[in-house]
Amino acid sequence: MPRSLLTLCLLLALAACKPSAEESHTQAIIGAVLIDGNGGPPITDSVVVVSGSRIRGAGSRANVPVPAGSDKIDGRGRFLVPGLIDLHVHLGTRGGPGFTASDYTRQRIEKNLNAYLYFGITTVRSAGADREAGFEVRKAQRDGAPLGARMFTAGRGFTAPGGPPSQEIGKITRQTDDPDDARRQVTELASQQADLIKIWVDDAHGKQPKVKREVIEAILEEARKHKIPVVAHIATLADTAHLVDAGAAGFLHMIRDTEEIDPAFIVKLRDLRLVFAPTLVRQELAWLYTEKPRLLDDPGAARTLEPEVIAAVRALPKGQPSETALLEFERARRNTRRLASSGVLIGVGSDGGSSIDFPGLMTHREIELLVESGFSAVEALTAATRNGAIALGKLDELGTLEAGKRADLLLLEANPLEDVRNLRKIDRLMRDGQWIERDKLVVK
Ligand SMILES: [Zn+2]
Repeated sequence: MPRSLLTLCLLLALAACKPSAEESHTQAIIGAVLIDGNGGPPITDSVVVVSGSRIRGAGSRANVPVPAGSDKIDGRGRFLVPGLIDLHVHLGTRGGPGFTASDYTRQRIEKNLNAYLYFGITTVRSAGADREAGFEVRKAQRDGAPLGARMFTAGRGFTAPGGPPSQEIGKITRQTDDPDDARRQVTELASQQADLIKIWVDDAHGKQPKVKREVIEAILEEARKHKIPVVAHIATLADTAHLVDAGAAGFLHMIRDTEEIDPAFIVKLRDLRLVFAPTLVRQELAWLYTEKPRLLDDPGAARTLEPEVIAAVRALPKGQPSETALLEFERARRNTRRLASSGVLIGVGSDGGSSIDFPGLMTHREIELLVESGFSAVEALTAATRNGAIALGKLDELGTLEAGKRADLLLLEANPLEDVRNLRKIDRLMRDGQWIERDKLVVK
């Protein structure tokens, strides 16, 4: 071996052995009420030890020693919860008053990811509208760049030619009715290392074409070969049942055409550990801002949205929601509650970034909607944390505050178990072991 190469090897070996300054930096958050994301009772006087980017210990003060030399952070009077996970977002399409999917830029993606992070959402799953710039941001993040909320992406999702959401986002979707073409396009997504594959399975109440079943089956078969999970936008029970049989891994939105769901089917959903992100807020959006204009008074709205966007939303005409829309909303809420109480995993998804569905702000509204649909606060928080990690196949890294996990956490000023809206009262926020300066995030 040439001497220079030998020297290089030695240097590399030394570099590998010596912990970096960051890895050896240990912090201990002491005295906070710990709500760890597993759904159990809170631990009133806790210690959470963070070393580098990972949690090294979390539990009661009696059980978790504070390592000598660690930076001590006073958590008394504060509430510690895992960073939130939004399973249903669309990045890079929100900018200015308009919803302009064509103006998709890396800068916009980064601003959106910062807006999520600002609101305490440390991880997002981007569901079907990402192009090259999205993969570039994801790569930069995985190479260590601190760019907003951690991102998982489906790349560009599938629908039928002219099917939803082509009306909103044009040619961005993969519009095909040919199973062989669909298989070829799955291979393309595999080469981009898509984290998941998205299919829109919806005909907008018979008004638009719906992806053919043989295309769905081809996508799922090919995705299985590449070990990529397939997540589907659904509306009906029949399509959901077909997708389950074909091997889908999870769902966006909720069954909303019927409440007559066979209990045996619910057991199957539970046993397969399929995660639904009901995205109730997307249904509520038609009347949300006219009925709850105070939502726009949230300081986070002014921080993350341009004044002209807020003004445009305030000026929306107060329309009467259609009977169908209200009926489907109530059905979706009741089905969400019924599935959850039968043990089916429910996650949180906002559809943030589409239409006037604002990043982060609407993630919090979705959590509130779960509570308004009958979840306890701790169930809603578990949906927004642990269940999100399960949906991503990342429960070993994300979703709860336990030893070994990534240190993504929120230190809150008020108890989220008394009122989930307190999840917005963020005192401090950590992602990957780094405190985030929220005030400095570029969000718009
Ligand atoms: Zn969506």
